[in-house]
Amino acid sequence: MSETKSRRIQVDLSGQTALVTGASRGIGKSIALALGRAGAKVACVARSESKLAETVAEIQAAGGTAAVYPCDVTDSASAQKVVESVVAEWGQLDILVNNAGITRDTLIPRMSDEEWDDVITTNLRSVFLFTRSAIQEMMRKRSGRIISISSVSGIMGNPGQSNYSASKAGIIGFTQTVAREIAGRKVTVNAICPGFIATEMTDALGPIVQEEAKKRIPAKRLGTAEEVADAVLFLASDSAAYVTGQILVVDGGMTA
Ligand code: NDP
Repeated sequence: MSETKSRRIQVDLSGQTALVTGASRGIGKSIALALGRAGAKVACVARSESKLAETVAEIQAAGGTAAVYPCDVTDSASAQKVVESVVAEWGQLDILVNNAGITRDTLIPRMSDEEWDDVITTNLRSVFLFTRSAIQEMMRKRSGRIISISSVSGIMGNPGQSNYSASKAGIIGFTQTVAREIAGRKVTVNAICPGFIATEMTDALGPIVQEEAKKRIPAKRLGTAEEVADAVLFLASDSAAYVTGQILVVDGGMTA
């Protein structure tokens, strides 16, 4: 094991089952791989079946267990069916990671109804749909972890992202409320707010915007998907049993 690897968070999730939305690439893929390495069985959800199969193959190659669940996370019946299938297949669902998300950036005078609705539906409605479905199983078992990927845009706003910021701020309010509703059942509900993380989503912004962003980050670099996955591992672990309704910011000091 390399020195860098040995310094990463080590968590034992063997015997547990996790579901990760948006596991076909980027942050969600890193989260799925990290949960798989920690010993959890991982249900990988996104629309692209072939990309999901790559995530599953990587988890299996590392000795883990994973399966592909192709699904559009905005669809209520599909979300319910995926959760039911995971529970039927593996007997339980212990960890839900709501990660799938999109951007449709433009300034507010030019934002179309469609751009607004697409982002709110994909980023926020999906969190509601999967949480509502998963929580029934978690309440029955009196244990569970729900972790949703919000964003620093949901805390501080970002010009051109009124739809995205609203969806990510919505996740924060949702998280705090559901955490209060469910804390007595030993289910924790938390959110992570990444700052600028190197993925296809931020690649699409181009080098000029990325360089400008770096100037605003005290750490002077973009974060990695693995650094977000490490935060997920902590919140999924037994060590975080008393942490609920919290927003964990992973942003190199951007919002400090
Ligand atoms: P990517 O664009 O790289 O990946 C997005 C993922 O979401 C893909 O797996 C995609 O799969 C999935 N997805 C999108 N729409 C749907 C849908 N309708 N149904 C099912 N799956 C869907 O993004 P990142 O990895 O960068 O971001 C992951 C999360 O982290 C997002 O919620 C994002 O908002 C958040 N975040 C990212 C930051 C960054 O700097 N990168 C910063 C802060 C937050 P597919 O297309 O196959 O369906």
